[in-house]
Amino acid sequence: MSKFNAFENAMQQLRTAAKTAKIRPDVSERLKHPDRVLSVSIPVKMDDGRIKVFVGYRSQYNNARGPYKGGLRFHQDVDLDEVKALSFWMAIKNAVVNVPYGGGKGGITVDPKQLSKRELERLSRGFIQKIYRNIGPHLDVPAPDVNTTPEIMAWMVDEYSKLVGKSTPAVITGKPLNKGGSQGRTEATGYGGVEVLKEVIKGQGLRGRGQGVRVAIQGFGNVGLYFALFAQAAGFKVVAVSDSKSGIYNPQGLDIKKISKWKEKNRQLRGFPGAKNVSNEKLLELPVDVLVPAALENQIHKANASKIKAKLIIEMANGPTTPEADLILAKRKISVVPDVLSNSGGVATSYLEWYQNLHQQKWSKAKVLKRLEKFMAHAFRDVAKTAKKHRTTLRNAAFILAVQRIAKAMK
Ligand code: GLU
Repeated sequence: MSKFNAFENAMQQLRTAAKTAKIRPDVSERLKHPDRVLSVSIPVKMDDGRIKVFVGYRSQYNNARGPYKGGLRFHQDVDLDEVKALSFWMAIKNAVVNVPYGGGKGGITVDPKQLSKRELERLSRGFIQKIYRNIGPHLDVPAPDVNTTPEIMAWMVDEYSKLVGKSTPAVITGKPLNKGGSQGRTEATGYGGVEVLKEVIKGQGLRGRGQGVRVAIQGFGNVGLYFALFAQAAGFKVVAVSDSKSGIYNPQGLDIKKISKWKEKNRQLRGFPGAKNVSNEKLLELPVDVLVPAALENQIHKANASKIKAKLIIEMANGPTTPEADLILAKRKISVVPDVLSNSGGVATSYLEWYQNLHQQKWSKAKVLKRLEKFMAHAFRDVAKTAKKHRTTLRNAAFILAVQRIAKAMK
């Protein structure tokens, strides 16, 4: 992420919130720095016998409201600034959705597509060997993020449990079902995002239901895929989707289930029959009603914010919009539902998984999704109320609400 500094952007958002709500200087001063950052090297024996050393991070930003909590990302662009920013956003997000957690985030600088499965397992276990003293069910609880899966979480829990000498499922969330995972966790982020979309549509003069609200989604990982599936099931017309390589577009609407099967087989979206190919950049500028960035940071920036045609943006990625773009979008009266609200269904359901682990319970999917819907509805209501009170954007309101909740806990 060389052109943009995610942490700088995050601090800009903090300053804006502090200014609007007259946050006490000692509070914002404390929130300018993570409590602790770990940087570790992970030697991995590759399949050909060579040793390769990878670099991994864990940023523990703030734990005033509870244990540090947030995902682990495997991506070639991971660096310390990005991880710091993401951990700060987790602290904000966890306060917005009101789970008893602080904020943390980690990652390894690696393109996991270049590794074999066995290499990936050794890397995942090696990372835990380096950080296990600094995580724990009541200290810091990792989870999946970009390119990390339930299977990877299972390796990590297994490694942690071996190292501490007892089975400890609650140390990590997002596990497979048969390894202490929760019903509903895999699809939770997408599910929660569509709940938020429905809330916004209810209160907005977008097109009537029958005509089909057109949605374009950037990103077809765990978040983008489930968002697309639930949006389609709810009657929205998903007209464009993309993966890290490129996207497809059909103004008449796409069949997401078919596309998902097609992608599994062909390992790409490009070339899906009956759709036009479209680049990731162009997807953002399509004539749609709702735009859903569900990939990486800094996708909507100064240079393209004026070209966006959607009237509503639901941020499912973390940090997809730069502060400069935010100003342009606000001027153009495009509503932005911020990441820390719209993608908080993932961590909310992580909390439900962690709770079930600690109390040795197993809940039905219906029960989990019902609790998730409550989390989303309350978060949306609280943020909307704060926005009204301060006459500000949903993003600024979410930050204000979160910083106030964190400040209360710090006192
Ligand atoms: N990685 C997800 C996020 O960015 C989930 C974190 C978690 O469940 O702890 O919110």
